Amino acid sequence: MEIPFVNLKAQYETIKTEVEEAIRKVIARTAFVGGPFAKEFEENFASFCGAKHSVGVGNGTDAIEIALKSLGIGPGDEVITAANSFIATSEAITQAGARVVFCDVEPKTFNIDPDLIEGKITEKTKAIAPVHLYGRPAEMDRINEIAKKHKLLVVEDAAQAHGVKYRGKRAGTLGDMACFSFYPGKNLGAYGDAGVIVTDNEEWAVKARMIADHGRISKYDHEFEGVNSRLDGIQGAVLNVKLKYIDEWNRRRHQNACLYRRCLEDVEEVILPDIPEEGSHVFHLFVVRLKDREKIQLRLKEKGIATGIHYPIALPNLKAYRYLGHQPEDFPVASRYQDEILSLPIFPELIEEQVKYITENLKAALSA
Ligand SMILES: *Cc1c(COP(=O)(O)O)cnc(C)c1O
Repeated sequence: MEIPFVNLKAQYETIKTEVEEAIRKVIARTAFVGGPFAKEFEENFASFCGAKHSVGVGNGTDAIEIALKSLGIGPGDEVITAANSFIATSEAITQAGARVVFCDVEPKTFNIDPDLIEGKITEKTKAIAPVHLYGRPAEMDRINEIAKKHKLLVVEDAAQAHGVKYRGKRAGTLGDMACFSFYPGKNLGAYGDAGVIVTDNEEWAVKARMIADHGRISKYDHEFEGVNSRLDGIQGAVLNVKLKYIDEWNRRRHQNACLYRRCLEDVEEVILPDIPEEGSHVFHLFVVRLKDREKIQLRLKEKGIATGIHYPIALPNLKAYRYLGHQPEDFPVASRYQDEILSLPIFPELIEEQVKYITENLKAALSA
């Protein structure tokens, strides 16, 4: 059996007619950048989240950078974020002109540890940027409480958490602004790069839209220099089709997580992720922890099973952040987990037989 890490082809087969029709309409109206299809998606996505405004942008990394800039965050400011994420989170903070301040993560959820945030706050701190890593919301009540106390803004990196709920509210409405990526492999993925910023604050939304479009609202009336990062019509149209299915796809991811648990709960060598009730974790990734990871990963590969590591080097330990002068011991949880984590396939189209094949081979690899 060959099991890929994600299977975008299988998903495409299920929505082929709708997607192709949607793309044809965009081409027929030559609504390539922005335009009615991008706008329709922005509106649909904002209401899906339960937020008032959304601004389509070129990708998730730009979404974070533009969101921070629209909040007035830039040179001289500090933004606190999680020590384990994709580099886009911290890169966007730097690109906005601010300084990244890493905070270690909680052992149970692998999300930013609220107990450690206050220790990172200085007079330069302007915002906290929690990441809903792997599809699980960060501890937003605690984070918002800290932010309120210290008058900080909260920008969610929800790139891995489309549709997830935290105390009944969806990601995108859990802070001041939220950023999503629609990179093809995400839970809600476009057919190219795309991203969106979501907020209830109209002023910030207008600012973000201007930044993303050369600092203007109307043609050639540029109020300041911005960037070029816009949602294109084809991506908007594809996302409009796919948005209808996201809850069902997330439900299947959760189902697969539960199936993994049933198959692996007696296997001592594998530490499973916490699996909260359906809806409160959308399992963008299913990350287990184990010893001898490289050996296990290779054995699985020999059996046709693709796996991933998210991420093999915690952000503060990357060469890119040598200038911050951190030691791995400064981030004990993230630094330990980076050598133990292994992501197993969990895309919605993964069937029971495949999960069983993966877990049987994982058990065999562990006892070999
Ligand atoms: C994918 C991702 C991003 C960046 O999104 P792009 O659309 O690829 O720029 C940011 N943060 C996290 C946590 C991600 O997983």
